[in-house]
Order: sequence, then C-alpha cells, then structure tokens
Amino acid sequence: LEQLFEHIEKQNPELNALTSLQKEYAFARAKELESKKPAVDQLLYGVPVVIKENIQKIGFSVECASKMLKGYRGQFDSSAVTSLEKAGAILIGSANMDEFAMGSANEHSAHGAVKNPHDPKRVSGGSSGGSSVACAAGFAPISLGSDTGGSVREPAAFCGIFGFKPTYGRVSRYGLVAFGSSLDQISPFARTVEDLDLVLRVIAHEDPLDATSLRGCYESQIEKGTLKGKKVGVIRSLLKSGLDENVSEQFSNLEESLKQQGVEFVDIEIPSLSHTLSVYYVIACAEASSNLSRFDGIRFGHRAENTEDLADLYSKSRSEGFGDEVKRRIMLGTFTLSAGYYDAFYGRALAVRDMMAKEFAAVFKDLDFIYMPTAPTSAFKFGENSHDPLKEYLYDVFTIPANLTGIPAISLPANVKEGCLPVGLQFMAAKGRDAELIAFAAALE
Ligand code: GLN
Repeated sequence: LEQLFEHIEKQNPELNALTSLQKEYAFARAKELESKKPAVDQLLYGVPVVIKENIQKIGFSVECASKMLKGYRGQFDSSAVTSLEKAGAILIGSANMDEFAMGSANEHSAHGAVKNPHDPKRVSGGSSGGSSVACAAGFAPISLGSDTGGSVREPAAFCGIFGFKPTYGRVSRYGLVAFGSSLDQISPFARTVEDLDLVLRVIAHEDPLDATSLRGCYESQIEKGTLKGKKVGVIRSLLKSGLDENVSEQFSNLEESLKQQGVEFVDIEIPSLSHTLSVYYVIACAEASSNLSRFDGIRFGHRAENTEDLADLYSKSRSEGFGDEVKRRIMLGTFTLSAGYYDAFYGRALAVRDMMAKEFAAVFKDLDFIYMPTAPTSAFKFGENSHDPLKEYLYDVFTIPANLTGIPAISLPANVKEGCLPVGLQFMAAKGRDAELIAFAAALE
C-alpha cells in the first residue's frame, strides 16, 4: 500500500483520476486483514479497489462530480462495496466522473477533466473516466464504474483495458446514485479477463435490497472457455460510416484471427438499431429528470442563500448546483414526460426499446455472441466534441443497445502498444450469459 500510494500521489495530480484518497482507511483495513488468515472465499484478499464517485461507501466522497453534492460523504455502504469488503478488498478512494454520470469524455466534471494515460492531450472517455484511468495507470488492478449507456466500456476502450457491463440486475444497484434506473448497472474495469471474472464472482449476485436484482449469481465458466465452434454475428451495415481507420483495422484483424481459430462469423441485421440514440436519450433523460428531482436544496445537496420563498429556493439551488449537461438532460426529460408529449416521445421510445430487445433475442437463438466496435474512434482530444452535445452522444451508438436491452457486453482492448492509441472491441451475449461471454473473452485474450 505504501508503494501504491507513492505511485498514485506522483501520477494522480496530472491524470486527475481520483478525487479522494482514503489512505488512513486503507491502512487500517490492511492491518485488520493481516490480523486474520484469509478465508477460502476471500477472493480479493488485500486487493486495492477504486470506486466511482457515485457509489456509496461510508466516509468516501460521493459527490458525483457535481457542485450540487459538494462535500457529501457516503452515508452507508452500497451492496457492491459490502461484497468487495467481505471478499477482503481494500477500498482506496473514489474516482472522478462526468457529473451524475452524464457524458462520454469525462469533461463534464466539477473536479475537472481526467487525462488519458496514453496521451495527456486526450480524454479518458466517460462517464467513468476516473475509474478507468485508475485501473489503466496501475492505481488499482480493479475498479468499479457505472454503465448506463456505455460509461464503462467506452472509457475502457479509450484507456486500453477491459470493461464489462453485466446483464441488467446481475450486480445490485443498491447504493448507486441513480441516473437512468432501468439502464444503470455497476460494472467493473480490469487489466485482465481473469480479474474481471474474480470481481464478478464477488459482486454479481442476488440482493434483496434491489428489487430489480436477478436470482442466483455469476458462476464462472472461465475454465471451460473455447473459441472453436462459436458462432458470432456481425452487423455489417453498422460498420459502414463513422469508424476511423484505426478502429476498422483492429476490428478486421481480430475477426480474421478468430476465423483462423475456428470461430464462425455470420452477417446479421437488427433493424431497430437505427433508433438507438433517439430511444436512449428520451428514456435516459426522462429517468434522470425524475431521479434528480430529489436534489432540491432541502433534503440533499447545495442550498442557495438569500432566497425569497420555497419556489425560489428550489430554482436557485438547482440552477447553481447543476452543470450545463445535467440541466440539458433534466429539461429534455421533463419535456418528454410532460402531459401531451408523454405518449408521443416516452411511450414510443419504450415501444422501440421493446422491439429492439425482441430483435436481439431472436438473433441470439442462433448465435453465441455479437461482435462490434466499442466506440467509433479512439480517444479524442480535449474540446473536440464538448461544444456539441450531439457529437458527443454519437460516441455511444455501439454501447447503448446493450443497456436498452439489458444484455451483457464486454470491451476488449486492442492496439495497446507504446506510442499507439488503444481501440476497444466489443462482444455481446444474450441476457444472463455473462459467464459464457467472460469465458469466451478469456479464451481469446
Ligand atoms: N455517454 C452516455 C450518456 O451520456 C452514457 C452515460 C453512462 O453510461 N453513464 O448518457
């Protein structure tokens, strides 16, 4: 831990990945662990872990990178954190993020942007940029983020590490600050698939504290992973536009190499994918506008001074506390949920989401996995997309479908070489097939 903190204190001021370091807590935990022998099920005994700043842990910063929650510290332990600590993990601090997890570059943060360790002029990806960089830069072998539309897979791709979004409900959301509750999933980063497998064995299980939690638990199949005979679908029409050369090249390279190892590729179509972004931004904003209504300056968060009456207090507190991107989403969401527009926008988005889930389920009847890039490009430069929200939203086009349909998806790093920009390649599986997907990824690592 001493060496680790030395490393972090050297690197973090430049990268801006961690917003609070819990040294005292970590050393106390280490002492406590040392005093007992590890139990057989303590899979993460003594392993340092970083969590995103929207995951509750008593005493840790849970500011969600927002002025609204400045100074707010965890009041209870989220279920994922409880499981990690039971397994012997040592939580060392909380990580920077886009405000309330809204963004794809970690440029919308009250703590400032996070730098990409491969090139400090470039973004880390978002919204879990801090957790991603913490893992990539060796602050911890494992970190937790949250993935609502790609916020773990996209920064994993930009930073050259693994990111995995489990099936919706596989990891408890208890203690995760809600953004889009029907899409949110606590999701891990790691530098190897084996580490992903380990952390899933710890955090992915049923939880009575989360009503959407799935029965049963993640049961590792990593020993059984093979490539030969697997059938993988590719949606060629999706790959026609917008991919940069680096991504296309890495995508084809892996496809070729897998073919040689006995993987069969078939072309598939999922017609509703053309509506991915519109459906997501209607649903995610609608849910966000409702979830974020709790930040009213009374029960939680920043309270404005010198206000005239209650309405003025709400309005000033929220105007001062939320950043621009969060305000934009609240306004969009409130609009699509308002009388007269609900059926036209929200209701229709739900119908298309349903159709998309059916289309995915239908293709998975005959397939093991679907293969696509994680993001259309590698990490971009600061400011390249932040002035144009629509441009930033386009970065999620390949990651969002897994959230809308609840299926598991993994981003694998490619092109991780000195002087190169990493690329993320993504595989998805049918709902509940998390363990098969991880086993497949382990076989091709
Ligand atoms: N980039 C997406 C958004 O801004 C996804 C965010 C997320 O997964 N938390 O909504």
